[in-house]
Amino acid sequence: MARREGLFVRRSVCLGLFLLSGCGGAPTTPASGATGDTPAVHYSFGVDPELRTLSATVCPRDLRFTHLRMTTPELLDRVRRPRLVQATGDVPLEFEEDAVPIASMADGACIGYDVDLGPPGEGFWITHGDAHVLAAPDVWLLAPEPRPPGTRLTASFTLPPGVHAAVPWPGDPRGYRVPETAFTMRGAGAFGKLERETVRVGGAELDLVSLGGGFGARAPLVTQWMQRSASALTHLHDGFPVPRVMALLIPQSGSDVGFGMALRGGGPTVMILVGSSITPEALDAEWTAVHELFHLSAPRFQSKDVWLSEGLATYYTYILMARAGMTKEQGAWDDLQDGFRRGSRRGTGRTLRQESIDMHETHAYQRVYWAGAALSLLADVELRKRGVEGGLDGPLRELARCCARSEEAWSAEQFAAFVDQKTGQAVMGPLFERYIDRADFPETAEILAALGVKGAGREMTLAADAPRAGVRSAMMAPRAGGKGP
Ligand SMILES: [Zn+2]
Repeated sequence: MARREGLFVRRSVCLGLFLLSGCGGAPTTPASGATGDTPAVHYSFGVDPELRTLSATVCPRDLRFTHLRMTTPELLDRVRRPRLVQATGDVPLEFEEDAVPIASMADGACIGYDVDLGPPGEGFWITHGDAHVLAAPDVWLLAPEPRPPGTRLTASFTLPPGVHAAVPWPGDPRGYRVPETAFTMRGAGAFGKLERETVRVGGAELDLVSLGGGFGARAPLVTQWMQRSASALTHLHDGFPVPRVMALLIPQSGSDVGFGMALRGGGPTVMILVGSSITPEALDAEWTAVHELFHLSAPRFQSKDVWLSEGLATYYTYILMARAGMTKEQGAWDDLQDGFRRGSRRGTGRTLRQESIDMHETHAYQRVYWAGAALSLLADVELRKRGVEGGLDGPLRELARCCARSEEAWSAEQFAAFVDQKTGQAVMGPLFERYIDRADFPETAEILAALGVKGAGREMTLAADAPRAGVRSAMMAPRAGGKGP
């Protein structure tokens, strides 16, 4: 996620999500009663014109449900009237803890339930805006159990005129195919008035969904910014690293970009708050989209290792923006150096490991994000010094290919072992070992001096005769095959 100083007003939004991210979904167990045909489940969803109630009907084929489970149990009071829907009339069902047990179901019967989408809730899960509601599928998509491997899950929406649905799920002749990750990882979704535009970047489809009234005459600016930001990823990867991304762009008051977040449930998604009176100047060197899109190019990391996931994203945001020509090389070094300075001052004296675990209580975000970015810089430079062409780029490219969409949450140790194995160098592991259990900020001054980064702000110069000046310019140089700004 992307953070700004002083953005505490939105903290509850991401805090709720962070605490819940990576929560497990429903277990899958072999089905009994399947007939040998491919088991299938179809969801039919409807939403009322006021966007207050969602109604769902879930129909199995060649599959017997034993339970329908809420994957976000803390929002259970939103789900109403679970019922067996059958030809002879509806039969009320009851929740037992976070699931509705289903004792028996006649052939052709379905399960129905309603979800209260209003009044507006606090935080991320349900938020009402201008003629739209941001409602994560985690709130309204109940998980059928069992779901034997190979079960085909599809969904369709029947909506009032002018109301549209936005979900990250791939299309299907029946509407959408619901991926298993919709039950196991947090996702985003919305209903209501929305503007939609699909653009292609680096071989991928970027599904741009602007909620409510959208951005009016400023819409092309926002689209170009998203395209430019997605193109920046092609200066690290071979094309854009995942085939499709849904970008939920949420208008907010003001003229700048606010909070952003990357989500994986049901398909790669970024959610970004954008000022409805956004200006070209504000978007000129705006980093939030590059940062969130970078997250989608790496695997999910364990939440205890947030210093690594945010560190890599923070470091590469500036590197990729310079490579793509969104910022000048000097500006990128100035931003990085400035971040290291802030990060080194904002710790609470905890070790990096503990600071990461306690980050949402201590608000030591700067220390955690920038310590991770500093370790990324140290590793990148060290690999390049040892003759590994492209430094960290190579292993990250391979990691995106194998694992960007994997459901597994990686640990820092696993990542270090991966990088060291791919590069044939013992760099990442020893670096992590040296800093993870220490309270002091990684030492960057010496490296920056060797790279030729001198002074700060307007006084900054990049010395061409520094010992590692060649490494420095190679790090920020556009990648052959990368797309322009
Ligand atoms: Zn982030």
